[in-house]
Amino acid sequence: MSDDSIKTGSAQWYSPTSVPDIAEGYLSSSVVEPIDQANQPLTDGFARQLTYLRLSITDFCNFRCEYCLPNGYQGKRPDDELSVPEIATLIRGFAQVGTKKVRLTGGEPSIRRDVVEIIETIKQTKGIETVAMTSNGYKLGKHLASWQAAGLDQLNISMDSFDAATFYKMTGFNTLPQLLADMDTLLATTDIKLKVNSLLMAETAFENLLQAIDYVKDRSVTYRFIEFMQTSDNSDLFFAQHAHSDTIIDYLLEHGWQPHERGSADGPAVEYSHPDYVGRIGMIAPYAAHFCDTCNRLRVSSQGKVHLCLFDQGNYDIRQYLQADDIAGLVSTLHNFMPIKPEHHHLHDSDSGIMHNLSIIGG
Ligand code: SAM
Ligand code: SF4
Repeated sequence: MSDDSIKTGSAQWYSPTSVPDIAEGYLSSSVVEPIDQANQPLTDGFARQLTYLRLSITDFCNFRCEYCLPNGYQGKRPDDELSVPEIATLIRGFAQVGTKKVRLTGGEPSIRRDVVEIIETIKQTKGIETVAMTSNGYKLGKHLASWQAAGLDQLNISMDSFDAATFYKMTGFNTLPQLLADMDTLLATTDIKLKVNSLLMAETAFENLLQAIDYVKDRSVTYRFIEFMQTSDNSDLFFAQHAHSDTIIDYLLEHGWQPHERGSADGPAVEYSHPDYVGRIGMIAPYAAHFCDTCNRLRVSSQGKVHLCLFDQGNYDIRQYLQADDIAGLVSTLHNFMPIKPEHHHLHDSDSGIMHNLSIIGG
């Protein structure tokens, strides 16, 4: 292993100049890309174009979701989160190599005081078509108008139950009625595209499905189940509650719901529609065959580390380029990552890499 790499616990960080190389085992330092490659779209070793960036802007979260941070955020909130100028450089670099959509995530992205400035900065970057955010919705009512004014195009709200007591049990917050009201305000007063994310759990799956179908009857919302992913922090709950996506999909197909083709810029959800319903029901099924075949994303943590796969064994520090406003260096480094983006995750082997829980990088 090169001296440039630092090992901490089970995690492996590489400095960008020592990215492991698939041809040589480990890459020597500073591979310089030919100039004409600098503006080419990022395409990995499996011919997948990476047009979608998920950017975590904080690790911190106020919720205590039982599958993610059951004991709440531990320790002090880090004081070295990416600054707005660093984020501006990051996004300009990614846009130069074909990123069209950026999603803010966390932790809970909306707890950052400068989230409006971050949305604005990304939205104003040439080449970025869509700015999205995934949030627990705690601050939705208070900040909806400013998010829209800043240019937010899409909002995914995580809401694991329609039942207030279950919502409280799952998140530690008794805020479901307010959240439902705030989402209706969003639908009535803005053109932000709304999706609801709900963790697929054996105990709540069927009740949630029936209520979700009712919810999307007259609302232009996609309600998406996310199959429970095992990480090292949640194994007990995972084995108790993991449910297969097939149970939901079979019900939908039997009741006249039809799957839609996914667009190239879309996420991994398969969405189902029905002629009698305004909204849609979606399914994100990371354990399904070929789930990773159409991966179009890269992830960057709130400390400026690139995760080539959500469940990779390591991550790659690009902060030096952000601090130096070095777009050329950033772009060259991103291209150098392409041969080593993993083909798929190893969740089937209960291997979630360095991802102890999804608040680290935002799912
Ligand atoms: N705090 C924000 C929120 O909850 O929407 C953003 C971060 S959260 C980690 C992003 C998404 O990951 C949420 O929709 C959450 O339900 C999902 N998630 C967290 N842990 C998960 C797990 N083990 N399996 C599947 N989805 C998970
Ligand atoms: Fe926080 Fe989101 Fe994790 Fe829930 S899922 S604890 S809201 S980061």
